[in-house]
Amino acid sequence: YYNEETIIYYNGAFVKAIEANGNVYDQTLHYGYGVFEGIRAYDTANGVRIFKAQEHFDRMRFSCEAIGIPYPYSNAELIDISYEVLQRNNLSDAYLRPLVTCPPNMSLTKGRGAQLLIAAWEWGAYLGEKLLRLKTSSYRRISPKNFIVEAKVSGHYVNSILATQEAKDLGYDEALLLDMEGFIAEGPGANIFIEKDQTLYTPQLGSILPGITRATVIEISKELGIPVIEKQIRLEEVYNADSVFLCGTAAEIIGVESLDDQTFQKPWSESIGAVIKHAYKNLVLEKDYKNVHAH
Ligand code: PMP
Repeated sequence: YYNEETIIYYNGAFVKAIEANGNVYDQTLHYGYGVFEGIRAYDTANGVRIFKAQEHFDRMRFSCEAIGIPYPYSNAELIDISYEVLQRNNLSDAYLRPLVTCPPNMSLTKGRGAQLLIAAWEWGAYLGEKLLRLKTSSYRRISPKNFIVEAKVSGHYVNSILATQEAKDLGYDEALLLDMEGFIAEGPGANIFIEKDQTLYTPQLGSILPGITRATVIEISKELGIPVIEKQIRLEEVYNADSVFLCGTAAEIIGVESLDDQTFQKPWSESIGAVIKHAYKNLVLEKDYKNVHAH
């Protein structure tokens, strides 16, 4: 993620990552009370472009406001800073990590200030390129009764770490978490779609992070005339799916081979997911995706 030369933006200045120091009494460090984003930049046909930058910074504002962290930033300045971080590190295809933390405060009161970090690094597809073997997690996705699940809050990711590690310890690639009602929710860091009878299904909002890639998949599907239905989905529906894929900024679009060792009806290469994956790649690279096909 960094080396001795890496430059980050931290509290108003571009500084070397290894020279930036936080305060050990920062409220975020103790309680997970911080907000972050995960964004990608691509080396497109039109130069380096941050994909869906407005949407990501809109979500960061929403997340901070949702949990009471001050947010004195505009999208325009954050986007300018992000491009400068990329440029100062000579990055074009890269992952950007904005993080808003709260200054020293050992009490459980809301944030009294905000500190901003923006880092960037090269990051290949987060879940790799091979089809994934998923395992239903014994951990449930955090409940909207306990947390504001639609906010991308640092502390929420303890749930994601537990689920990921459990799946890996059991020999799988990735976890699938159910919501508190027992419907499927999402992966630890990605949303899920299933294909059945030429239609895509994805869990409705409520117990999931409203993924920007999820929204993009819905947008692409609309353009390509593929119906998408957002609803509560039972595990059995996933087992009986024609195909399944995960999507997220870091993971992009990645096909699923099996869930709990049950494979799906269609080979990945014939799935709607493969078409979407191809279209997504073209979209982020600012190539025409409406006239392209998977084969
Ligand atoms: N769900 C969770 C829990 C995530 O952490 C992420 C990654 N931000 C996603 C879904 C996908 O969201 P996005 O497409 O906005 O990256």
